[in-house]
Amino acid sequence: MASIRIEGLTKAFGATRAVDEIWLDITDGDFLVLLGPSGCGKTTLLRMIAGLVEPTAGRVILADRDITYLPPRERDVAMVFQSYALYPHLSVERNIGFPLRAARRPKAEVAARVREVATQLELDGLLGRRPRELSGGQRQRVALGRALVRDPAAFLMDEPLSNLDAKLRTATRTELTALHRRLGSTFVYVTHDQVEAMTMATRVALLDGGRLEQVGTPTEVYDRPASVFVAGFLGSPPMNLLPATVAGRDGRVVVTAAGVDLPLWPGTADRQGVTLGIRPEHLRVLPAHTAADDAGADAARLSGTVTGLENLGSEEVGWLALDTAGPSAAGARGAAVAVRGPRPLGLTLGARVSLTVAPEHVHL
Ligand code: ATP
Repeated sequence: MASIRIEGLTKAFGATRAVDEIWLDITDGDFLVLLGPSGCGKTTLLRMIAGLVEPTAGRVILADRDITYLPPRERDVAMVFQSYALYPHLSVERNIGFPLRAARRPKAEVAARVREVATQLELDGLLGRRPRELSGGQRQRVALGRALVRDPAAFLMDEPLSNLDAKLRTATRTELTALHRRLGSTFVYVTHDQVEAMTMATRVALLDGGRLEQVGTPTEVYDRPASVFVAGFLGSPPMNLLPATVAGRDGRVVVTAAGVDLPLWPGTADRQGVTLGIRPEHLRVLPAHTAADDAGADAARLSGTVTGLENLGSEEVGWLALDTAGPSAAGARGAAVAVRGPRPLGLTLGARVSLTVAPEHVHL
């Protein structure tokens, strides 16, 4: 078992709380991705699990053993760094075998294990080369091999793909997912790239300002963000967020955002200072001639002017300035929203359009 329990883990650098009392259960066999913007504390959290940074408070429990203050090499975890941290003067073979030689394993065992790992990572033909004679992708695989060779209980990875070009990054994502499935070990993986998180993770932990905002499967955190931060971090473009108020009127819950009333659900509720969230792919562009009733009985409507268009290949993103309702706002440009869908969206720069959204796709 290689579950990792993080109990109230905190790291302060002077007045900065880089990691602020994080509680997190990483299940055996999880591919847990720590995701968040630059400076949110993900590297510091990973380094505390690795034993490279000493916590200010809290504990790290690996498979029911308190490892909080154990030196890195006694932890049964292996770390893969962004920079790969290979020994430049050693061959691929000696780089991969290094942790076993350092642990004074018998020569024959080291040789056999290095061959095994090299085959697994398709490095067989490169064992005699030095790191400088390898491509970025090959170096990354050697760094991975050095972690694999020890057969650790958990792999800790700090942005291991960030030095690869876009194409290789995509291919390596697939390889890492396959490797994780094959090994069945626990992976803890740091990135600020949401595509890496969404495609590889079994669970994603979102961090902001040293605090844990949400943990869940990629689908859960995308479909049901627990905070405005998570909603605004995930998605490309991210979720449209508008300040709103909620009031019960005529047996409906009416959300008012950007000066427009959206009667959404049956019921009553009164709330001020709410944020309305709609994903760009959930806004539907209505053809110009559509009458109010044709939009669907339950669909809420917004209207605005097209201010920008982005061609993404198979899809397109349109940017709109919403109309601001009320006589005083005539001619004023309101909040910006993005709409995303298969190309062409049917939008023209400067044109006025109406958008609808199904009530089930509205987040408050
Ligand atoms: P990035 O994606 O940019 O690597 P991160 O989420 O991994 O960011 P950390 O490297 O964990 O963030 O840093 C979290 C906070 O702690 C930052 O404000 C950083 O400046 C601060 N910090 C990190 N290491 C140290 C240190 N050794 N001394 C002082 N402050 C530090």
